[in-house]
Amino acid sequence: MTDTIPNAVMLTQLLVREATVTPIATPALDILEKYLSEAGFRISKLPFSETGYDDIDNLYAEIGSGEPHLCFAGHVDVVPTGEVNDWSQPPFSGNIVDGKLFGRGAADMKGGVACFTSAAIKYISETPDFSKNFKGTLSFLITGDEEAVAINGTPKMLNWLKEQNIKLDHCIVGEPSNPYVMGEEIKVGRRGSLLGNLTLFGTQGHIAYPERADNPMPRLAKVLDRLCNDALDQGTNIFQPSNLEVTSVDVGNEAHNMLPSNIKVKFGIRYNNLHNFDSLETLLKQKFDAIHDELGGHYEVSYFRSGEAFYTENDILVGLLSDAVEKFCDKKPKLSTGGGTSDARFIKNHCPTIEFGLVGASMHKIDEHVDVKDIETLAKIYFEFICNYFAKVGK
Ligand SMILES: [Zn+2]
Repeated sequence: MTDTIPNAVMLTQLLVREATVTPIATPALDILEKYLSEAGFRISKLPFSETGYDDIDNLYAEIGSGEPHLCFAGHVDVVPTGEVNDWSQPPFSGNIVDGKLFGRGAADMKGGVACFTSAAIKYISETPDFSKNFKGTLSFLITGDEEAVAINGTPKMLNWLKEQNIKLDHCIVGEPSNPYVMGEEIKVGRRGSLLGNLTLFGTQGHIAYPERADNPMPRLAKVLDRLCNDALDQGTNIFQPSNLEVTSVDVGNEAHNMLPSNIKVKFGIRYNNLHNFDSLETLLKQKFDAIHDELGGHYEVSYFRSGEAFYTENDILVGLLSDAVEKFCDKKPKLSTGGGTSDARFIKNHCPTIEFGLVGASMHKIDEHVDVKDIETLAKIYFEFICNYFAKVGK
């Protein structure tokens, strides 16, 4: 059991000073291992490899046993610095200037990892007779493969957990969920993404003899009208409306007097939780079939299923975190489903998962930084959340 609680700002600096540009993670994981094992966590190092991909080091740490099981997930790999000379502070310095801590990964997301580590160890040291009084499991799922392809990171760690019969009940991903101000947003889901390639076939011919050819253009006009103008839905209280965007129409016909043999259409859909891959593909098939039943010809369509939409409607998780944010930020966080993807897309298949961390405005940019006071606030929010979670859940 530890006597020293690592300060979240100091720990952020220590982590930032290790240049763990993806796929490197080991030096930052070693720092976490040291603090977590001193605090009594059982450590499992989880290196994974797969032909054609970088070998990745990952770390799983847990303390306690049984339910409820609260997991904190994050990554310690970072994106490259870009032009080092453009930085006002060296990108792996962790220098603090005017109350801002600079460095690649400060926001995304070593700061978040440091805050949760500090909060968890504080919780352990301040719980009287912890090993006797603590009911439940507190764990860390830390990967070195989030900024790259996520092949040898979180998905394989989750499979490993399953093999060990370790079941997560709730998870917080410490990604920088706040766009500009601390406490603005908790991410409770993401829109899905489906990409489509449609080919409309006709028969090539001379424009003087259209009866001897089959021009696919009239079908294209109808297809574009339906794709561009039919609303997929009106949105929900938590998601914006789904949208379908046609991104390319390629006829490849240089000649004025020739009817083309085929037309290629590319489109992409960002969709909310009123749809899924299957329902969207069925809906589009109905549209395309109806047009071709009316106007003849045939088509082929293929899809790339990029990621399903998800929404975490978990009152305990969202409620407790929202209360903790409100207590230290004096405002109720907005529940958001915007933004890009994160490893939450894998973890949500195992347990209710939400994302909350620092302010992400400078992530991936030159001069990435976070406010020192935001780090301090986030550590307090996480601590409050951990206390309330184990006091209330499963009781
Ligand atoms: Zn990240």
